[in-house]
Amino acid sequence: MYQNKRFYIPTKIYFETGITDRLKDILKDENFKRALLICDSFFEENGTAEEIKNKNDAVLDIFSDFTPNPMLSKVEKASKLLKELDADCVIALGGGSCLDLAKFASAYRYADGKIQDYFFGKKKFEKHIPLIAIPTTAGTGSEVTCVSVCNDDISGIKSPLNDEKFYPYISIVDPRLTLSVPPFVTATTGLDAMAHALEAYWCCAHRDITDTFAVASLKSIFGSLEQAYSDTKRQNIEARREMSKGSLFAGLAFSQTKTAAVHACSYPLSSNFYLSHGEACAFTLDLFLLENAKFDKRIETLAKELGFVNVDEMASKIKYFKKKFKLKTTLADLGCKDSKKLAEECLAHPLYNNNPVKHSVEELAALLEELK
Ligand code: NAD
Repeated sequence: MYQNKRFYIPTKIYFETGITDRLKDILKDENFKRALLICDSFFEENGTAEEIKNKNDAVLDIFSDFTPNPMLSKVEKASKLLKELDADCVIALGGGSCLDLAKFASAYRYADGKIQDYFFGKKKFEKHIPLIAIPTTAGTGSEVTCVSVCNDDISGIKSPLNDEKFYPYISIVDPRLTLSVPPFVTATTGLDAMAHALEAYWCCAHRDITDTFAVASLKSIFGSLEQAYSDTKRQNIEARREMSKGSLFAGLAFSQTKTAAVHACSYPLSSNFYLSHGEACAFTLDLFLLENAKFDKRIETLAKELGFVNVDEMASKIKYFKKKFKLKTTLADLGCKDSKKLAEECLAHPLYNNNPVKHSVEELAALLEELK
């Protein structure tokens, strides 16, 4: 599998505080004339979306009729609007939910047949509208991945879909947009980014280039997450900048390697116990850090490079973050009474195969029960 060794990303990336002010120039230089702005309702309510539309003649309309954990029915609605407008570009302004909905809608706009056939991989997209992704959380890295995570209204299944057509054409990462993110979302999205970087580092498919992005990401996140979380005045742009950088670099790393056991477990944890994606990732992050370090000796060196005495101290820091951010940390907190059933569901997820250490159902159930 020589493809596993390549590093491929077709996205033009802009990363700078205030860079969204140049959207008009970017649209002009790229010759986009008919754009739909898909945005998180937060940005419609605070007037940002209208301001962008007024400043940019190319923006024809705004779509914000969706909620976090986007549903396929809303993707269908957005893609219908793209068709009606004959849009030549999609601008997505929001967190991972917004970016993922926009990715799917920009490809489904040219598709025919049931959306579920694409969601469950029975059919492949052939064309898509170029996407300009503007993330407003520092977490998912969706601005540089070809992943879209959506929810099927019919089966209730939440699942990631990988498709190279989902890579944004342009990604505009402006830390200023994240100043308004509330503390709990700052915490959980930040830990999501940390999980991406760590999993990219220890994933079976890691390679030198992805390691470099992962380590740089972890330095930014460990160094700034607490400051960004405590930024109640919403003016610590330096901490926000480091978090946006950490999220972007983690995205660049895991876009190539995929993720592993932490993300495999996050899906049953989210669907059974209604945790947000970031909180679900944080739930097992220190557990798999310690488990994988037993096998992958590079992790001890990584801990030292990040300024910890050893891996145990690094795991303690993650536990400290979870307590400080008031996240659920034990099976009792979740109300989970059947650790074996949960372990079975985690192990059944295909992402578990990317983890360097494998576990039996009994072993994983015991590890989950030990979480404090
Ligand atoms: P989100 O997009 O669901 O947003 C969470 C909340 O934050 C929402 O209420 C939103 O309105 C609010 N918000 C967003 N930006 C804001 C801002 N600047 N100011 C104030 N409020 C703001 O959260 P997320 O964590 O960014 O995305 C989670 C989704 O992304 C999940 O569905 C997850 O599975 C998916 N995901 C995708 C990828 C990928 O590569 N595509 C990777 C990881 C996670």
